[in-house]
Amino acid sequence: MWNFRNIPIRRKLTLLIVVISTVSLLLASLAFITSDRINTQQTVSSNLATMANIIAANSSAPLLFSDPVAAQETLDFLKSQQHIQAAAIYDNNDQVFSSYMKPGLEVELPAANLHDENTLFWGDHVELYTHIVYEGETIGVVYLRSDMEMVHDRLMWFLGIVGMVLVASLLVTLLLSAQLQRFITDPLLRLSAIARQVSTEKNFSVRVIGEGRDELGNLIRDFNAMLDEIQLRDSELREHRLKLEERVARRTHELEIANAQLEKSKEQAESVATRMEYFAHHDALTGLPNRILLHDRINSELAHARRQQTSTALLFLDLDRFKIINDSLGHAVGDQLLRVIARRLNNSVRDEDTVARLGGDEFMVLLPRISGSADAGRIARKIIDSLIDPISCNGHELHITTSIGISIFPYDGSDSETLIKHADISMYRAKELGRNKAVYYTAEMNAGSRKQLAMETNLRKAVEKNQLRLFYQPKIDISRNTIIGFEALLRWEHPTMGYISPLDFIPVAEDSGLIVPIGEWVLNTAFKQLKTWHNAGHSGLTMAVNLSSAQLSRPGFEDVVENALDSSGLMAAMTELEVTENVAMENIESAVAILEKLKCMGISIAMDDFGTGYSSLSYLRRLPVDIVKIDKSFVREIPDSSEDVTIAQAIIAMAQSLKLSVVVEGVENVRQLNFFRQQGVSIVQGYLFSKPVEAFDVIRMLESQTVPGTVNLVK
Ligand code: C2E
Ligand code: CA
Ligand code: CA
Repeated sequence: MWNFRNIPIRRKLTLLIVVISTVSLLLASLAFITSDRINTQQTVSSNLATMANIIAANSSAPLLFSDPVAAQETLDFLKSQQHIQAAAIYDNNDQVFSSYMKPGLEVELPAANLHDENTLFWGDHVELYTHIVYEGETIGVVYLRSDMEMVHDRLMWFLGIVGMVLVASLLVTLLLSAQLQRFITDPLLRLSAIARQVSTEKNFSVRVIGEGRDELGNLIRDFNAMLDEIQLRDSELREHRLKLEERVARRTHELEIANAQLEKSKEQAESVATRMEYFAHHDALTGLPNRILLHDRINSELAHARRQQTSTALLFLDLDRFKIINDSLGHAVGDQLLRVIARRLNNSVRDEDTVARLGGDEFMVLLPRISGSADAGRIARKIIDSLIDPISCNGHELHITTSIGISIFPYDGSDSETLIKHADISMYRAKELGRNKAVYYTAEMNAGSRKQLAMETNLRKAVEKNQLRLFYQPKIDISRNTIIGFEALLRWEHPTMGYISPLDFIPVAEDSGLIVPIGEWVLNTAFKQLKTWHNAGHSGLTMAVNLSSAQLSRPGFEDVVENALDSSGLMAAMTELEVTENVAMENIESAVAILEKLKCMGISIAMDDFGTGYSSLSYLRRLPVDIVKIDKSFVREIPDSSEDVTIAQAIIAMAQSLKLSVVVEGVENVRQLNFFRQQGVSIVQGYLFSKPVEAFDVIRMLESQTVPGTVNLVK
């Protein structure tokens, strides 16, 4: 159905303009035609009136004289007037006096009405009545009837004009409206096109152009403002969406990773479980079985040995001086060393044997089904030999040895604990015997360790009861043949057990910490003793005191020394402190620090037992040492052992190059003395001159100015 609302706005506007202009044109035309018709009618009526007046003027005489012919002649001039249809002259009696009729027309003449003079318009004709007046008196009436041809013609002409104007104006209106409606429709169309573009393309950056101040302009501005708002919202939305997408992507990625990790950890879990199982039973550093696995193996092996009545051996290994290497060269080197040793140990044993690491530098070897004790000894020997070749770690050529304790089932124990304990005890025995050895367990060893415990108790009592005493051994300058000083040496005479060697009780004192008070007592006693000798006139004598590591590593040791010096009133220059290489090497950094302090106080530092411990020239250089004491173990075989001769010569040469004094201890005979004299050594110590003696013997020794036994022997 045709619906006005559905047609495009362009057409609507055009239609509206056309309708409005046509209606107004028509109304204007109607007014014009109406007014023109009135004018035309008036013209017609006045023309008729003029004609009627002429006829009336010419008709009064014929009427007065009742001359119808004359009247007829007057009327006859109407023949030339085409529009006159009829005419008549009435007399006073309303009788037709004379008449005229257009030829071909048959109209009825009206009955004359003499009272009225007027013009009457009928549909197709017009009638006019005019009085014929003579000397102020109406003597008759002229009647004229005319057609409306003129009026109609003019109407037709007008209608034609109006029609033409209407058509022309319609065309113009159409043309104009087509142009003018654009002012309204164009912005609207732009608006709708943009709206469509926005809705289809979702492009909110477009804007409608139009700056008018009218409603359309406002509409466009509002529309653009709306677009601004939408664009802002859209970009915010887009931003939010981007963030959201980013978050989702990230979460997804994380989830994927987590999933992958979960998958991987599932896979790993099993291998981890296996590895954990492995690590629970193996040493991480060397990969060897650990204590737990070893215990399992020992127990199952013992059960087997019991059934089969076979023997099983346990070797307890402790590396010699490993701690020194570890401390001085660092743990990395230590670890590397342990790995190499683990390999060598494994290579030295049979496949069915177990090499385990107990921790630190302790290893244990389980030797099942051995044919006899000798078998275990052989394997222990093999292990010791496997370490002969130096091990190179980080550019260091390291010589390492091990001490091994051996216990055998069923002779040395029936359960794993006992066997391990006994192997451990024998390992300690191997250390005591000079290291790098394998030692079988014997029942006496157990007694020995029990003895050690008893000794600690006894030593404690001895300290309390002042059973400890100091002996002094002179140091001789063989170039001048005089005593230059003494070394203080501890002596313990037990009331019932008799003499106990410091070699036996010093380690116990060190282990129990008793060495600290004992050492302090030694320092004070020895220094005070020297002071009395100085006071007695022997002021050039020196006093050497032995130190153990427990003393040296104790904070504030320098104060202990200082107090001893102060309370004795001795000059520091007259004192010497002897430390062994191993004592110094156990913690090189702190040893250097404390020895430096002591040296600064003016005390001389002697390197005791030189050559037996961790001999290293580079470390000797680092230590603030003044004196090197060649150990008596190198002296014993001199000059018969060429090896000992070489060692002694090397030590002397090295000491000279480092500008250190040399003291030789343990000189027991003249051959030894002569050898060292030849080597340029001037200070010696030993039984050749004197054993360590009590203080009152020293006085005698000094008073007589003789060194016991020297008079004859030195020469
Ligand atoms: P050391 O410091 O090497 O002392 C020398 C040891 O050799 C002493 O043994 C001494 O009696 C002995 N000796 C001296 N001349 C000869 C000789 O010609 N031939 C032989 N075979 N031996 C000789 P001692 O007194 O039994 O002391 C043993 C070790 O005990 C000392 O060795 C020392 O390390 C330690 N010691 C002794 N007294 C003390 C002390 O007061 N404090 C500390 N920390 N250790 C001490
Ligand atoms: Ca000494
Ligand atoms: Ca010594």
